[in-house]
Amino acid sequence: MTKPPVIALLGGTFDPIHNGHLLSAQELKAVLAADEFRFIPCHRPPHRATPGVSSQQRLAMVELAIAGKPGLSVDGRELQRDQLSYTIDTLIELRREYGEHAVLCWVMGVDAFCHLDTWHRWQELLDYAHIIVMARPEATLPTQGPVAELLAAHQVETVAVLLQQPAGQLLLQTLTPYPISATAIRQAFREGKRPSQALPEPVLNYIEQHQLYRSE
Ligand code: ATP
Repeated sequence: MTKPPVIALLGGTFDPIHNGHLLSAQELKAVLAADEFRFIPCHRPPHRATPGVSSQQRLAMVELAIAGKPGLSVDGRELQRDQLSYTIDTLIELRREYGEHAVLCWVMGVDAFCHLDTWHRWQELLDYAHIIVMARPEATLPTQGPVAELLAAHQVETVAVLLQQPAGQLLLQTLTPYPISATAIRQAFREGKRPSQALPEPVLNYIEQHQLYRSE
């Protein structure tokens, strides 16, 4: 049998996408030997205020950020659904498209993972994909409650074990920490600064051309 494809999926608001997202994605893609690392911008995030910058503009910035980077792609499907963007709906669609053998890995930061039990139909996510938590060396994970129980039931220790199944397992993967946040970037623009170290140049140019993040 031919080796099934390994697809990593990173959802987020990407308001804006920054070098922390990109460098972590490239590092994780290499760790997984993934065929593709796909960014999935969220149209209407269920757990936070709808961003001030439009979904189309956030998608455009992701497109600019990944242009010319092999193996990175963007998937705008959540923008087609004029409803709250639930990860479970996206995973069900992707599983249908890729078939039962593909290894699908939903990727998230520790901060997002700690609140996984507030996500719509969160217990079903592992039916469709693995979950990979991008951990920092000092990351604190819950030790009790539903997320801790999910970890205890599904955690595997190595990528090699994870890749033996198409879905259903949880991996904490320590990556190089990049202390960059979209919140800090938006704040910097509001203060009239130019956070050029934190952003790919085409994204920086796009933000300036469209005068994004100038006000609340
Ligand atoms: P904000 O500051 O607006 O909350 P964010 O980058 O945390 O921005 P998203 O754009 O939704 O929010 O992030 C997408 C995913 O990337 C999340 O799972 C988040 O944990 C992760 N992430 C964010 N910043 C970094 C970083 N510097 N390094 C690695 N992962 C990150």
